[in-house]
Amino acid sequence: MRQPATQRITVLGATGSIGQSTLDVVARHPDRFEVFALTAHRQDDKLLEQVLRFSPQYAVIGDVEAAQRLRVALAEAGSRTEVLCGPEALEQVAAASDVDMVMAAIVGAAGLRPSLAAARAGKKVLLANKEALVLSGQIFMDAVAASGAVLLPIDSEHNAVFQALPAGYARAPGRAGVRRVLLTASGGPFRAAPIAELAAVTPEQACAHPNWVMGRKISVDSATMMNKGLEVIEAHWLFGVPAEMIEVVVHRQSVIHSMVEYVDGSVLAQLGNPDMRTPIAHAMAWPERIEAGVRSLDLFEIARLDFERPDFQRFPCLGLAFAALRAGGAAPAVLNAANEEAVAAFLDRRIAYLDIARVIEPCLERSAGVAVDSLDAVLAVDAQARDWASAQIQTLSR
Ligand code: NAD
Ligand code: MG
Repeated sequence: MRQPATQRITVLGATGSIGQSTLDVVARHPDRFEVFALTAHRQDDKLLEQVLRFSPQYAVIGDVEAAQRLRVALAEAGSRTEVLCGPEALEQVAAASDVDMVMAAIVGAAGLRPSLAAARAGKKVLLANKEALVLSGQIFMDAVAASGAVLLPIDSEHNAVFQALPAGYARAPGRAGVRRVLLTASGGPFRAAPIAELAAVTPEQACAHPNWVMGRKISVDSATMMNKGLEVIEAHWLFGVPAEMIEVVVHRQSVIHSMVEYVDGSVLAQLGNPDMRTPIAHAMAWPERIEAGVRSLDLFEIARLDFERPDFQRFPCLGLAFAALRAGGAAPAVLNAANEEAVAAFLDRRIAYLDIARVIEPCLERSAGVAVDSLDAVLAVDAQARDWASAQIQTLSR
């Protein structure tokens, strides 16, 4: 029997790193959470396992053959989960009236429509898909305001900032007396590598993050610090702060997940072991707190916390992201799309690590003056930028 207090959750991107951590938290609290739908792009074997464990009403998968395989396997196992297929189904399970909360954990621009569908339907939206805000921050935040959706950040930095802001002030930091938002960054695997070695970096090296275990795309973004750049844009939209009020602080231990400085000189930080189950559990139970399976922070073992200014020479992608935020309009969407294409090309060994920024920069220059006032316009810009990036990748890979 469903308890009255049970929250029904749709996990978009259930087979990914964030999706799996979310299900880990769900499994610790069967009295609180019930899975309504699980979605995956291609990995039907992994999704099958999850469906058999959590018995959702719906499972959504990207392609028709995978859906058919999944249906057969589920029927054999006696499961009653209904299998749906394709992008419309993602929006359907994100907005269904039976859903209380949606974990938006699809990677990249593919997550935009379903994340937005959850926001428009007034759900409690647990937003991991930072690209949705980078691409369409204004549209997304307008949808949240119009529907009364509750938006809770999953990205560890933004979750930390949210926790360090007074209740009710998340969208009005000015009134809360905020002077600056300090986003911490680990600096990734190449923070201290000799610059000369960066030219020969392999995908394996770029994906070997010192502190966090994550999907491949975001791991490369952490290595280039584009991840922090996207997070600067994300923070701008989530908390309504201009670029000038956001500072990036390289902090290699990843123990302080971010900070808020107030006009009286106080700086509030949120600390913890680097484990995404903390922000996930925080958002899922908010405003309560629940056990997340995360180890206690041992400050004696950590012993010291270091801070450095980011090196914009070493990490040109960070500078490109600040430039895109300041330029506004289509620039952040172009930045995101060109970066996705460049990272995919790097992971496929078609371009070198240092080429990632070289793909993005000229695309950004072409974005000046392009308007993005509707979702269709955003998607058109996204497609256009991918064409620009592909041409650039071709040139560089020759
Ligand atoms: P991942 O690659 O591990 O998982 C991505 C998920 O999205 C998978 O379930 C995959 O099946 C699904 N997916 C991929 N392409 C899709 C498509 N075209 N259509 C439908 N579904 C698709 O990624 P992740 O590391 O879990 O990251 C997910 C999101 O969370 C990203 O936006 C990332 O920036 C953000 N995030 C991740 C972390 C982390 O620690 N992993 C931290 C902060 C923010
Ligand atoms: Mg983050």
